[in-house]
Amino acid sequence: MGALRFSLNPDIRKHVGYAAWFCDPRMTDVTHVGDELVVEFDGDDEANIRRKMERLIARFASLDVFESRIMFQSATPLMNMDQHGDVYQTLLARKEVIELGRGQVAIRGLPYELLEFFDASFVQAVAVPAQARSEYYPGVMEAHRLDRTNHFSSFPEHVHFVMHLREDLDVLDQFSEELKASGGWSPSLLAKLGTPLAPAHIAVNPAVCYHCYASLENTALDTAGFAVTARSRCHRYEGGNHRGMVRLLDFSMREVIFVGAPDFVRSARQAAVDRIAALVNLWGLHAWLETANDPFFANDFAVKATMQRKNDMKHELCMPLPGGGKVAVSSSNFHSTTFGKAFGISRNARPACTGCVGFGLERWTYAVLCQIGLNIDKWPASLRSAFQRWQERQPLG
Ligand SMILES: [Zn+2]
Repeated sequence: MGALRFSLNPDIRKHVGYAAWFCDPRMTDVTHVGDELVVEFDGDDEANIRRKMERLIARFASLDVFESRIMFQSATPLMNMDQHGDVYQTLLARKEVIELGRGQVAIRGLPYELLEFFDASFVQAVAVPAQARSEYYPGVMEAHRLDRTNHFSSFPEHVHFVMHLREDLDVLDQFSEELKASGGWSPSLLAKLGTPLAPAHIAVNPAVCYHCYASLENTALDTAGFAVTARSRCHRYEGGNHRGMVRLLDFSMREVIFVGAPDFVRSARQAAVDRIAALVNLWGLHAWLETANDPFFANDFAVKATMQRKNDMKHELCMPLPGGGKVAVSSSNFHSTTFGKAFGISRNARPACTGCVGFGLERWTYAVLCQIGLNIDKWPASLRSAFQRWQERQPLG
């Protein structure tokens, strides 16, 4: 076992600390100690791991402007979250959140109801005024379509392919026999069978709106634009970064998606953000909206991230976490003509623009419970009464 230390400025350290988990499979821990990033690993191949880490640091260090601008700050001041204790541990103890695997949870009781209440509220307060139509999408996506969104090249570390055993009687019988002989499943079982898996054609869905654009392939719009809303399971592999309900591997996302002329998409996106800000104030929550960039992993990180920041393409609604951290619970994105071009969606013979606002429902639930605690009687009055009105309308009680 070995350890390496890198002295880095805080913004670069944050990005490198996240990405370090994808540097080498022998990585066992990544921690921030003072202004140093400490990576620990199994084995003694320090030179190789140092070389990879330095490559990674060079990639992120080339971004010069990292400061986020605050676009909106809610009226409610930062509350003392320590008074609510460790909300995640309490939810685990109450068995209202059950960890089922790395980044996978079952949710029941109060956090489940709050998650559904938030979703219903976002539909009512953001999707309905945008006259969004409601759509349904699968939880997986054809790999050739996902490739056209540039997801593979921008976020190769997040990709999770869906594989199946080859359609071959020999392979299927060998699999069953090996399973019986080994006394059940183990990750090494497939390796005993040579090449039992068929080529990957499908990946799990990383975002809701890609399906919307794919479903509009080769469409010409005859209006200024329109809005769509959908909720899907989304899925991102984040290695050692998975944490409680803040960074799940499989999570629920509500999106409101805008397709059309640039002015239509920009103004619809702004109206949606204004409505989210109004909800946050109405519910008495502490949150702020800041400029952001996606955590691109590819070696053109600096170019892509700088373009997003300079053109106000990504804003994130953040909430504080106990211990001084923060979590982005919603994002607002302007993609310009990227997806219009990728999927042949046009308007007046030009590629259409797209944008979306997304709500990470598990993150909303957890971040809000950290702020207001688990005792409903002590919640801000407007949030409590809206939640209780929603509860009364639920047929399963
Ligand atoms: Zn989206």
